[in-house]
Amino acid sequence: KTTGTVISAIVLLRELVRLYQGQKELTSLPPRSRGVESLIGNTPLIEIKSLSKLTGCKIYAKLELMNPAGSAKDRVALSIIKSNEQLGKLKPFNNDIIFEGTSGSTGISFAMLCNALGYTAHICLPDDTSPEKLQLLKSLGAELEPVKPASIVDPNQYTNAARNGANKINNDPNDPRNAIFADQFENDFNWKIHYQTTGPEIWKQMDGDLDVFINGSGTGGTISGVSRFLKEQDSNIKVILADPQGSGLFNRVNYGVMYDHVEKEGTRRRHQVDTLVEGIGLNRLTWNFKQGENNIDLAIRVSDDQALKMAKYLSINDGLFWGSSAAINCVAAVKTALKLGPGNKIVVIACDSGARHLSKFWKEAEKISNDITLDDIID
Ligand code: PMP
Repeated sequence: KTTGTVISAIVLLRELVRLYQGQKELTSLPPRSRGVESLIGNTPLIEIKSLSKLTGCKIYAKLELMNPAGSAKDRVALSIIKSNEQLGKLKPFNNDIIFEGTSGSTGISFAMLCNALGYTAHICLPDDTSPEKLQLLKSLGAELEPVKPASIVDPNQYTNAARNGANKINNDPNDPRNAIFADQFENDFNWKIHYQTTGPEIWKQMDGDLDVFINGSGTGGTISGVSRFLKEQDSNIKVILADPQGSGLFNRVNYGVMYDHVEKEGTRRRHQVDTLVEGIGLNRLTWNFKQGENNIDLAIRVSDDQALKMAKYLSINDGLFWGSSAAINCVAAVKTALKLGPGNKIVVIACDSGARHLSKFWKEAEKISNDITLDDIID
């Protein structure tokens, strides 16, 4: 009896200590660490039941669209801000400006986080950016600089415009402000935050048991960071790149050459990819893609037609209203499941919601019949 009482007392004491430490941790955080940025990461992972049922595999999606500004880019934006603060290159509530060149989610993540953490977001973007993304950026009050869509080698291209903007402020002795260029495509903090957070989260949520990871590549940060972490845990995990039509990464991964179709035609927009899918596919190699390239086992090319049909299929059969890159990943997941056979566990990323793609991708996807089947999607 005495032993029982002593054990109970020890258990109780340990609980109290744990509670105290947890509370201390929470209260010792400065107030701004508990704002909207504290909601970033630790996103849920769900099973896509219709795809599992039809393929005999288990197909899961990591819901990056549940981050507060609606995409995986929240992780990257927060990491770039925090790292620059630690390096002394940014100081909150000091009129510091963060420049980024982006046509998509990264700008929205920076706009939200800059408001929350005491900075100004200056976003250079192509002037054909979709109205819903533009509206979001305007609602968040970001400084917007629309530029004519152009190839990356053009000095006026949006990435170069952002770099130039930051340099101009920093080189002007009469401008008291301080600026940084976030540079998501080439910045090491991008893939590293996925290596440090997204990868470990997937590993934990899958209880260390998965066979395949599938994702597209925009900057390449997500696929590089996640694949590097997962392969370090289990080298048998296969990593597959889901690539939209018109992107050169497919050939780069499968055949070791980057065949730049559009460049051959000599058009001004030669580095852009001709697809309805937004956020992924590229005809140039970025630093972030190169950091994980060796971990990619195979690339699967997905047509716009397949992506549109899959998006509608998931919406009707699972209630999952997703963006175009998530749909591409799911097409590649079904193809992989059918090739590998039943029993395999496959994880894809659902980067953002269909609400970000209403005026372009979903305008086409909504027209597809509710009766669409997987046979109609996979040839
Ligand atoms: N999906 C969407 C909708 C995106 O905006 C992006 C980023 N451009 C990606 C996927 C790919 O992410 P990453 O840049 O990490 O390759």
